[in-house]
Amino acid sequence: MSRRRRPGRGPGRALVAASPLLAAACFSSPTPLAPGVGGSVGAPQHGVLTDGVELPAGGPGFVRYRPHGQHHWGTPVLVAAVERAAARVSTERGGEPLVVGDLSARRGGKIPGHRSHRSGRDVDLLFYTTTPEGAPVRSPGFLHFGADGLARVQGTDDYVRFDVARNWALIESLVGSEGAPVLFIFVSRELEALLLEWAFALGSPDSLLLRAATVMLQPGDSTPHDDHFHVRLACSAEEALRGCDGGGPRWRWLPPLEEAAPLDDALLAAIAEDEGPPAAPEDSAGDDAPQDDSS
Ligand SMILES: [Zn+2]
Repeated sequence: MSRRRRPGRGPGRALVAASPLLAAACFSSPTPLAPGVGGSVGAPQHGVLTDGVELPAGGPGFVRYRPHGQHHWGTPVLVAAVERAAARVSTERGGEPLVVGDLSARRGGKIPGHRSHRSGRDVDLLFYTTTPEGAPVRSPGFLHFGADGLARVQGTDDYVRFDVARNWALIESLVGSEGAPVLFIFVSRELEALLLEWAFALGSPDSLLLRAATVMLQPGDSTPHDDHFHVRLACSAEEALRGCDGGGPRWRWLPPLEEAAPLDDALLAAIAEDEGPPAAPEDSAGDDAPQDDSS
């Protein structure tokens, strides 16, 4: 039996009426259940997504790690930021494409292998890699890179190298972009050091170095992220009014916003449920997903 609720019925309506947040805003594409709430709703570890867009299986300078996966939905700003950064690195430096891991499910919520990635503002990006001699090679997967920038390819005696130049170009595009307010880029301390050393040697502006050094972080409550970047965007002011909830500090260069009160669990579930029928099961390729415990 369907548990799908109709607009104006069930517990969702009472919650809508009780929330001052929902009375404050009016937007063009609301979910009928909660007219003022939409987009990236709730926190990255505890949210849902409406009006998401899907990152295509491939485009200029990027491919998806799981071409047939179901978890490549994000806010329009996040998807555009990934596409823009990948295209820029490809144009400026050539080489093999960026390999993009999971974003979120179409309606957000919990997906396998992740604690966050629930509200359309998180994406995993595999590292650009080269051979040990420096020839660009497509990332073979989630490999663990050490402080020397080398990673052993699983099941072989081969190694690949962390492509510092192209990985920095990616960070520069994401952090320097006006359209993508980056909150965090989770990555290990050793790899962050390689990137900043390179950026400093290039003569990158102090403001860019400061932003990059601030948002790049080895999380203390999950894996060290020596095998991929985990990028999280901050809420925009409009998103915050529609229910987007934090997920990290408000860096001083991000536009100010009024944090909304957290939404009720039942309302989050009801918003996701109202978005449409469930997605198809994840394809079998998803089973090799690494555990990403980013908080
Ligand atoms: Zn992640």
